[in-house]
Order: sequence, then C-alpha cells, then structure tokens
Amino acid sequence: MLEQKQQIEYVIQEAQQTSSKSAKSVRLIAVTKTLTPDQTLQVAEAGLLHLGENRPEGLLSKLSLLPDSTVWHYIGSLQTRKVKEVIDHIDYLHSLDRMSLASEIEKRASRPVKCFIQVNVSGEQSKHGLAPDEVKTFLERIGPLTKIQPIGLMTMAPFEAKEKEIRGYFSSLRELRDSLQHQGFDDIKELSMGMSEDYQIAVEEGATFVRIGTALVGSLRE
Ligand SMILES: *Cc1c(COP(=O)(O)O)cnc(C)c1O
Repeated sequence: MLEQKQQIEYVIQEAQQTSSKSAKSVRLIAVTKTLTPDQTLQVAEAGLLHLGENRPEGLLSKLSLLPDSTVWHYIGSLQTRKVKEVIDHIDYLHSLDRMSLASEIEKRASRPVKCFIQVNVSGEQSKHGLAPDEVKTFLERIGPLTKIQPIGLMTMAPFEAKEKEIRGYFSSLRELRDSLQHQGFDDIKELSMGMSEDYQIAVEEGATFVRIGTALVGSLRE
C-alpha cells in the first residue's frame, strides 16, 4: 500500500506542477469504507491520517481502534436520523445537500462541523446534491447556523463520463466556488473532487481535497 500512496502523491504533485488552475496544497483522503477496522489501522500506520467513511456503522466500528489524531471525513449521503450517532465523531462532512440535514446537525452537534456543500454539477438524476444555481440561496439559509461551518463545495463526476466531460464538471465546480467568493462567501475556499479514476483531472482543475479508495487502499482487501 505504501507503493500506491507514493504513486498517488507523485501524480498529485505532477498535476499541481503542470496546471495553472491547480491548488497549492492538496489533501489526500484515504477512503477506507470497504476495509475492516484492522485494515483501516494499517492505512493510518502508513501515515494517512485523513480517512473517509460513508456509513455510520463503518465509522463507529473503527473509532476506538484508530489513533486520536485521525481526521474523519464523512463522505456519503447522511440520513437525517443518523446524524446524532455520527456528528460529534467527524471533522468534515462532504455531503451537506439539504436544509433538513443542516437543521438536524445544528440541533445535535456539540461543536461546529466543517461542511462541504454537495453539488450535482452533471445534473444526473441519480446523484445527490444541490443544483449549482441553488447553492447561493442555501448558503444564505445556513448562514445563521452556528454548528455548520461551510468551507467549500463537493462533487462527483458520473461514473461513465469521458475525460473531457469530467474536466468540464470539475472546472464548473471551481468556477462556482470562484463566483461565490466574488459574491462575498469568503469561507467557500475548498473543492472536494476526484476519486481513484479521475483524481489527476480533479487536481489539474483545482481540487483541494481528493477522496481515494480503490487505487490507494484496494490492495489491503482480501
Ligand atoms: C467510495 C467513494 C470514494 C472513493 O472511490 P474510489 O473510486 O474507490 O476511489 C470517493 N467519494 C465518495 C463519495 C465515495 O463514496
């Protein structure tokens, strides 16, 4: 797995150097959702402290085994009724996409949670996320909430998309972020985009967080 980590870090660096739109610093999140707690511990021991989970049970089963220094990212869609179980254990939520979820977090969290607004850039029916033109109003609505700390935007490219389309979706998310910043939403700085198959494109288009599972930790699965 160390080999995969080095390879991915190298690709990220190269993408940063070759693209003028790339971010100065890119955070690698190891998506450990398919791993057992023991396998996940191996990931942390390889020096990857930012871990991504997408199910409450997965996250909760790993908390006690992993070092306190682990930074937990919740990357899947979160059911409102599950908020109370997970919210105080996570550092970042990548899938804030509705007011009912924001209100439940406001009610249940005992400290602010860094949140990405999930955006459905491709317009695919099956994808979660707000339409790009709904994001500004949503940010205004969550503005008064003290437990929601909006830090950026998250998107996923459709599974079957070709490189040129994927690049288009990622650059649209960057442009939306830039436009929101111009409209005074100064806290919306981060872009969570890029997975095993498309992280190089994502970094070239300005990703500041990439979420990588298969290509990084896949070899740990039996
Ligand atoms: C599973 C998952 C990833 C990682 O996917 P890989 O293709 O295994 O790298 C990233 N983001 C989200 C939201 C996921 O659910």
